[in-house]
Amino acid sequence: MAKMKVVIIGSGVAALAAAARLTQAGFHVHVFEKMATPGGKLSEKWIGQYRFDLGPSLFTLPENVEEVLDLFGKNRSSFSYKRLNPVCEYFYEDGTRFSAAADHTVYVEKLSEVFNEKKHTIEKFLKSSKATYELTAPVFLKSELSFSKLLFKADTYRAIFQLYKLPLLGSLNGSLKKRFRSEKIIQLFNRYATYNGSNPYSTPAMMQLIPHLENGIGAFLPEKGMYDISRTLYNLAHENGAVFHFNSSVEEIIHDGSKVKGVRVNGEVISSEIVISNLDITPTYRYLLKNFKAPERLLNQEKSSSALIFYWGVKAVFSEMHVHNIFFSDNYKEEFDHIFLRKDLYSDPTVYVNITSKECTQDAPVGCENWFVMINVPHLAGQDWPDLIEKSRKRIIAKLSRILKKDIDSLIEVEEVLTPQLIQDRTGSFLGSLYGNASNNTFAAFRRHNVRSNDLKGMYFCGGSVHPGGGIPLCMFSGKLVAEAIKEEYL
Ligand SMILES: Cc1cc2nc3c(=O)[nH]c(=O)nc-3n(C[C@H](O)[C@H](O)[C@H](O)COP(=O)(O)OP(=O)(O)OC[C@H]3O[C@@H](n4cnc5c(N)ncnc54)[C@H](O)[C@@H]3O)c2cc1C
Repeated sequence: MAKMKVVIIGSGVAALAAAARLTQAGFHVHVFEKMATPGGKLSEKWIGQYRFDLGPSLFTLPENVEEVLDLFGKNRSSFSYKRLNPVCEYFYEDGTRFSAAADHTVYVEKLSEVFNEKKHTIEKFLKSSKATYELTAPVFLKSELSFSKLLFKADTYRAIFQLYKLPLLGSLNGSLKKRFRSEKIIQLFNRYATYNGSNPYSTPAMMQLIPHLENGIGAFLPEKGMYDISRTLYNLAHENGAVFHFNSSVEEIIHDGSKVKGVRVNGEVISSEIVISNLDITPTYRYLLKNFKAPERLLNQEKSSSALIFYWGVKAVFSEMHVHNIFFSDNYKEEFDHIFLRKDLYSDPTVYVNITSKECTQDAPVGCENWFVMINVPHLAGQDWPDLIEKSRKRIIAKLSRILKKDIDSLIEVEEVLTPQLIQDRTGSFLGSLYGNASNNTFAAFRRHNVRSNDLKGMYFCGGSVHPGGGIPLCMFSGKLVAEAIKEEYL
């Protein structure tokens, strides 16, 4: 029997996972990618002698990649990574320092010592974070957004009977304030809201599940850098028959109002009964699915934050920093009010510095480091970006120089910038938002598009703007969910 064809638009991490899984299941997969290389946001670039991962820097749940390797019977060691210790270095303006150890006992002891909180209170919070993840992941994150499917899952009933363990009311910040006295520890745990581009002062307390991923299960780094995630998935799909068409921007998804018929690329029609869009859901409906009614309620949700990134090759080594480093703002509430309410930038932003060369020595010349310097910013809303970029650069350099006690500006050897506009232009993310919709209210998680269309047969979706959400682990889940949905329907 001839293999069924699947066309995938885009080659972000969710699409690569779906392409590999569908190839292995016997589908004939064609991926059309508008850029010259695979990976989307999860790409890399050399600037002079420095290598940079362009987007994601924090890697959790590596078993998502291993699961795909296992499907092909590949040795897991072909994708090597290590668990980071310390997980993150935190710097506060008043000189307070906290190094988050990977070891649970040391982590709790140090949190207690530095922030003067009882160990028991910290343990209780981390236990609650773990319970929230373990109860919601099988029911929500690893399942399609479908009432009928959830009805037949044992995990659904397990979660229902343990609802009392879940923080169902209030915001993340509100629930942290009830547990802790130290403003600094509250700020540290509030930061996890930014992992899906949300505001800790309005995102639901359920988001407390994220610290468990990083501290309970672990933060990891592939030995060849983050891009090795894309490379590994691409190689698996490609070696097993998926055909990749680079520099090929899809212009239209062809349909007859009830069924998908194919796509149009460079004026040429490519027929296929099954099409997966890995492109952000908003441009998929607005520009590719012409003459088709868009799900306005889902598309009009508040968007997540964006980011401003400076890639700096730095001619020095900073022993007090590790792979992940946070330099906190002195007024977190003001910072998020600026990002989400005023849609502008706060004068004292929290600065994140990622340095992969701490572990991947090939990423920078000897005696130098590759700094990925990022601040959270609002999505595109008519701001004067050239002015904001110039101001931000000065503010970031002043803050880092102040805290690290070195003139950072004079150490920058090479430099490039990634802006919300470039994020939108390069990857199609609507308004440059990093994670599709924000999760700034209780129902936001349920207002993401499912991986399959109920109205157009053969139309599927995967990636950061659809269920279960943005970030590498959730995109890998959506890649799996979409492959399972297609197998269920067509095999
Ligand atoms: C700066 C930054 C930092 C981040 N940090 C983290 C982090 O630390 N940890 C984490 O887990 N996540 C992080 N994320 C989020 C994470 O990168 C994304 O959620 C994830 O990579 C999105 O993958 P995706 O599958 O949705 O596809 P995307 O990466 O969005 O790729 C979509 C692809 O579609 C292609 N495309 C668009 N239009 C067309 C068209 N018409 N025809 C053909 N192809 C098209 C694009 O070129 C692109 O390759 C970060 C993101 C950014 C930008």
